[in-house]
Formats: sequence, structure tokens, C-alpha cells
Amino acid sequence: MYKKIALLDKKIADLINDENQRQADHIELIASENYVSEDVLKAAGSCLTNKYGEGYPGRRYYGGCEYVDQIETIAQERAKQLFNVKYANVQPYSGSVANAAVYMALLEPGDKVLGLSLDSGGHLTHGYKISFSGVFYESHSYTVNENGVLDYDEILKKAKEVKPKMIICGYSAYSQIVEFDKFRKICDEVGAYLFADISHISGLIIAGLHPSPSPYADVIMTTTHKTLRGTRGAMIMTNDEEIYKKVNRSVFPGYQGGPLFHQIAAKAVSFYEALQPEFIEYQQQLLNNSKVFCQTFINKGVKVISGLTKNHLFMIDVKTSYGITGKYATEVLSKINITVNKNSIPNDTETPMVSSGIRLGSAAMTSRGFKEDEFIIIANLIDKALRDPENESLLTVIKKEIAKLTSSFPIKRSYIKR
Ligand SMILES: *Cc1c(COP(=O)(O)O)cnc(C)c1O
Repeated sequence: MYKKIALLDKKIADLINDENQRQADHIELIASENYVSEDVLKAAGSCLTNKYGEGYPGRRYYGGCEYVDQIETIAQERAKQLFNVKYANVQPYSGSVANAAVYMALLEPGDKVLGLSLDSGGHLTHGYKISFSGVFYESHSYTVNENGVLDYDEILKKAKEVKPKMIICGYSAYSQIVEFDKFRKICDEVGAYLFADISHISGLIIAGLHPSPSPYADVIMTTTHKTLRGTRGAMIMTNDEEIYKKVNRSVFPGYQGGPLFHQIAAKAVSFYEALQPEFIEYQQQLLNNSKVFCQTFINKGVKVISGLTKNHLFMIDVKTSYGITGKYATEVLSKINITVNKNSIPNDTETPMVSSGIRLGSAAMTSRGFKEDEFIIIANLIDKALRDPENESLLTVIKKEIAKLTSSFPIKRSYIKR
């Protein structure tokens, strides 16, 4: 557990401490979440939150930027080193805002974009009709095939039909490898920009456990709080100087105002951690864990979308496997202190708020020290609970097992051995 906090505002302090306790005594399997180190927390909670500094290092509209300029420059340098890119903008407040800025940098309103559909594992900002990306742009989508896998010939066919100005790859709920080289070829054939949104897999890419988009993509975006294990936020990268200039203008003044320097400093600290050898070990472990976790379900005859995972996450079709909805599955698991999210699956007949799947990820619990054995135990407990979701006495027994695990694997304060 992180340190408890005390505030004059007792109401909020109590709620923060309750959330801290919840994080400690639940098994966190939401694939987009993680536990940051206390160093990252300290930077995020620092005096930098007071500072205004619209603009970029050396070119600000405000005085007093001598220290925040250095912090932002260090964050950029580390980001470039981690992802082997020439330019990085570390100011985006979140992945969604960063994506909006990428669209603004490369496109005119009404231009065509091609992204993976939401129920195939794409993100809202990849063209979903009620997101900015579907409202202000003409969005089209490709899907996964009947095996839940990307079919690059089909994507090429779709791209030739649509003639998009930008193709988006990189996803929120796709467990297989993204072949950026193939996407590059498709983009070249139809004259489109390639935008790689690596929000989920950026940690694996840093560790060399997933191919890098750097040689292929025109623009790369990642959030910093998923497998990267940093503070909430995002960054945009490119190897093209002209695109970099456009991205800078579309982040500020295009979409954002003053940079959140406390978050930029916290990003820099998490990049520092990601540059250490421990981070590579962490990514290798979370990948091993994810595969074993997924295989355990497959061995039980559970329907896993796309087959055995090749990254930190996978999705289970709970409708086919257990005869229940994704919404109900998350409610049952929440009773036994396991946190997951419901997720649409390909060709889902339920609405996104109900859905037929759940998404499971290994990033957070690997940060707490879970290895293969613990993930096998968790898979068994989840399977038992979902097979017999109305059996309250069974759920009570499982909840006790979970409590043993969470107390044996407390949230760590640091990830760097010293
Ligand atoms: C998480 C995610 C985002 C959005 O990030 P937010 O910080 O929640 O706005 C964008 N794209 C992908 C692929 C994601 O997984």
C-alpha cells in the first residue's frame, strides 16, 4: 500500500485512503492500469503543479521557466532514447487529447481515416462515431477476421476502397503482434499517413518484446500509464521534423493550454525507471505471466478471442464460455475483489455497456510481484467463480483466497534494486 495521507479536508483524505486500501486489497487485472513507484507519485504531487509555462522549452509565454524547461527537455531526451525516435512532445494531458492533436496535425476536418473498429479492439479515438474522431472526420473501419486476428490483405483491400488520408494501428484490446512494416506498405500503396497508437504495448516495445513502429510510422502516440508504468498522460513522437512542428502546434495552442509540469516531471521519472535493466525484466515477466494466464483459460476450454496472447492482455468471450454477459462477469469478480473491465468482442450482439467479453491484463499484478504460479491460481479462481456465479458461499471462500494473495504481494514502493 502507498503511504496514507492526511489533509485538513478530511472527507477527501478519507476517500483517497479508501481508494489506496482498495488498490491494495484487490487483484487488479484491468489491462490499462498499473501501480507507479513512490518516486513517480512524489513528482506528480510536487510544487510543479503551480507553474504556468505555455509554449516549449526556451520558447515560453511566461517567466520563471528555467527549471521546468530543463525538466521538459530531460523528459523529451529520455522518451527519444526509449523509443529510438528523433522528436518527442511530452505535453499531452491524456491519450485521447494526444490523438486529437495528431489528427489536427496531419488532417483537415472531414478527411478520411481508417482505424480498427471498437468491437474488434480499437480505441474510441480511432473513429468511433461519438468520439471527436468520428464527429469531425470521415471515419471508416477495418475489423479482425473470424479468428480474431488482423488480416493485412483485407486491410489493404479496405484501404484501397476508402482511400484514407491516415491509417491508425495499435489498439486497446488486441492481443496479437501489430506488424507495423505491413501497415507501412499498405499506407504507401494508398498514399496515407501511418499513425501508430502504442498506448498499451509501449512497455513491451521498449523491452524489445514487440516490434517497434519507429522505422515505419509517420507519427507514434503512447499513453504513459499502461505497461509503461508512469503517471497518467501521453506523448507524441515522430522522426519527421515537419510533422514534429505540426504536432507541436496542434498540442499547443491547438488543443491544450499550459503544460502540466508535475505530470511531465513524473513522466521523466518513469522514463528514468524504464531505462533501467529492471524494467526489461519486468516486461519479460509480464509477458510470460500473460501467456500462462491465458493458456490456463484455454486449457479449460474457455473461448479466448484471437487465441493465445502475444502481449500483456487478452479477452475472454464470457457469453460463449460461461453463458453470462461481460457486465455480469465484472460484477461477480468484483464481489471476490478482482477488478476487470467488460469489453465488446468481435461481432458483439450486446451494447458496449453490457458486452459479451471481459479483458484481462497482467501489467499491474506483475508489478506487485506475481509470477506464473500466481496467475495460474487467479485463472483457476476466476474460472470457478464464473462457472458458478450465484454460489455465494463459493464466492466467500474464493474471496478469502484472494485476500491471502493480495496481502502476500503488497504494492511496491520502488522497482529499482539498489
Ligand atoms: C488508453 C488508450 C488511449 C487513450 O488514453 P486516455 O489517456 O485514456 O485518453 C488511446 N489509444 C489507445 C489505443 C488506448 O489504449
